[in-house]
Amino acid sequence: MVRPKKFLGQHFLNDTNIARKIVDALELPTGIISSVLEIGPGTGVLTRGLLERKDIDLKVIEIDFESVAYLKKELKGLSGKIIEGDFLEKDISSFWPGPFNIIGNFPYNISSQIFFRVLDNRNQVDQVVCMLQKEVADRIASKHGNKVYGILSVLLQAFYDIENLFKVSPGVFNPPPKVMSAVIRLKRNSRKKLDCDEQLFQHVVKQAFQKRRKTLRNALKHLNLPGSVVVLDLMDKRPEQLSVEDFIFLTRSIQQGETVR
Ligand code: SAH
Repeated sequence: MVRPKKFLGQHFLNDTNIARKIVDALELPTGIISSVLEIGPGTGVLTRGLLERKDIDLKVIEIDFESVAYLKKELKGLSGKIIEGDFLEKDISSFWPGPFNIIGNFPYNISSQIFFRVLDNRNQVDQVVCMLQKEVADRIASKHGNKVYGILSVLLQAFYDIENLFKVSPGVFNPPPKVMSAVIRLKRNSRKKLDCDEQLFQHVVKQAFQKRRKTLRNALKHLNLPGSVVVLDLMDKRPEQLSVEDFIFLTRSIQQGETVR
């Protein structure tokens, strides 16, 4: 067995029914073989189910050499499909020439960083099915108007439709985490690119939520916005009241205001 290591966020799922439900949550097109990357297979509770699916070309990426040794020994079907190392350090775009999907019981300590990598590779990443801390899952999946709506909700929902699937309690893990977990699914929407400068969009969203209790007019004051933007009605709102479309509109207004200023 592999001894769980806290610093790697290792909480091994013990429940094969839940593992099955997670694997089944991956909705792949019929009649073709889809590429799937599993992040953090650990002792392979999801991997076993993934290997059984005939519609999947699987690769797994695992940082823990002890888990890798275990997988090589126990799961012969994984031969040649294991990438050893840190997901955050790898160029995932080179794993397959075309689109792929991601699945995993994410190491909770790096789940936000994983999503930023997904965003960087959004033109290749079609779907993500993952387990994470329930609080983070709720945040990512929540819509505007909700208290927990934040930076990752806006940035991810710009390109993905997100569904909260089910909750998982701590007791089914070894060791049990201190928090509730949840499984979510992200599916790439049809938006090819934003109708505004993408870097500026990210910047505006991040700055707005830095001061989430303030109105946008106050939160974005230091950006020295054009007068035509400062007077917009939406500047009286708080960031959590703005939809993705509103943030796109705001960013475009800033760009246009700058050209006429
Ligand atoms: N899928 C297994 C393990 C989940 S725990 C299960 O469901 O039981 C999270 C896993 O991610 C661990 O195996 C841990 O070693 C691995 N991991 C942690 N950080 C990682 C990183 N940066 N890159 C790749 N894998 C990582």
